Amino acid sequence: MTTYKLLLLPGDGIGPEVMAQVETVIGFLGQAGIAAFETEHDLVGGSAIDAHGVALTDAALARADAADAVLLGAVGGPKWADVAYEIRPESGLLRLRKDLGLFANLRPAICYPALADASALKRELVEGLDIMIVRELTGGVYFGEPKEITTLPDGSKRAVDTQVYTTGEIERIAHVAFDLARKRSGRVASAEKHNVMKSGVLWKEVVTRVHAEYTDVALEHVLADNCAMQLVRRPKQYDVLVTDNLFGDVLSDVAAMLTGSLGMLPSASLGAVDDKGSRKALYEPVHGSAPDIAGRDIANPLAMIGSLAMALRYSFGLGEAADLLDGAITDALASGARTRDIAAEGAQALGTAGMGDAVVAALKARIG
Ligand code: NAD
Repeated sequence: MTTYKLLLLPGDGIGPEVMAQVETVIGFLGQAGIAAFETEHDLVGGSAIDAHGVALTDAALARADAADAVLLGAVGGPKWADVAYEIRPESGLLRLRKDLGLFANLRPAICYPALADASALKRELVEGLDIMIVRELTGGVYFGEPKEITTLPDGSKRAVDTQVYTTGEIERIAHVAFDLARKRSGRVASAEKHNVMKSGVLWKEVVTRVHAEYTDVALEHVLADNCAMQLVRRPKQYDVLVTDNLFGDVLSDVAAMLTGSLGMLPSASLGAVDDKGSRKALYEPVHGSAPDIAGRDIANPLAMIGSLAMALRYSFGLGEAADLLDGAITDALASGARTRDIAAEGAQALGTAGMGDAVVAALKARIG
């Protein structure tokens, strides 16, 4: 059996607590002969600032570069609110994304049957929901130059952000979306604003051209504002949804709320496939370090465990093991396992470790 190299970066706040549950699951997968991992640990975010004065050391970055995949908990918290902007906890995460070239952000929005009532929408609209949002992560208006605030002759100010996309940047994210769709229901929706933005015109043109290589996949173009409306009107019409950095930021948060809780949402950030067929990848929960509940064994570890399932699927090609783990999460929820964030008002809730154990018990039951 291949042994995969995983770098674990637990980070701050609830990060180490939820990462501990991933380690329990990794231990079980190894014992059961399902997947074998060699794990290394390092610091990121506030904990790295405390130890080394920076949010990610060069040594940690080199370890991330050498690993088959990186799992990250969460970074940040009030303790580091006043550190210099350049070394703030989030800079560790941004450096990882930038230096590893992680241009494709995958955010699944899955509504588990057992949690359909926790959604902001009616049960019938979200039950069975399974959308994959593919967001371009390293280009667009967050990075385009010029990016500045200047003072005009009359003393007022002028702020500029620049939306820039090149053909190559759009092509590579379109390929990620179409390749994913082939493994899912074969449908892609591409969201932009070609009616008012030149970058939208190019986005639509390039996605259409790349689509010619995927005649087995259905492509629909949708204006990003209409897409936001459709996501709350009839979300199940979408399967893979590909979009740029800014629209992806907004639309993925909308999709997140369809599923009920922040503690349930995993994500993957992927780089380009190299000539050996492998790619850099970082897996992390969508939630932050939740300082309000840190250290109390009440955080929900399912987003972190779901991030491991994504690593199994997208970095190691272990689709069956990923299905097994995702299935165990579904089973644990169906059997009534709840952390406080997803429990009914006043109902008994499991702690972080208790939920990790419930997933392992469900894994055992599935293996038989
Ligand atoms: P947050 O996601 O940490 O918390 C928002 C709310 O959701 C809180 O009430 C929290 O208790 C709850 N929550 C989050 N994850 C949960 C879980 N697994 N189980 C149960 N409840 C959960 O967002 P925030 O409060 O805006 O930010 C807190 C810190 O995290 C800040 O320093 C912020 O910069 C940082 N942050 C980091 C990341 C990251 O590491 N990728 C992402 C977002 C925010």
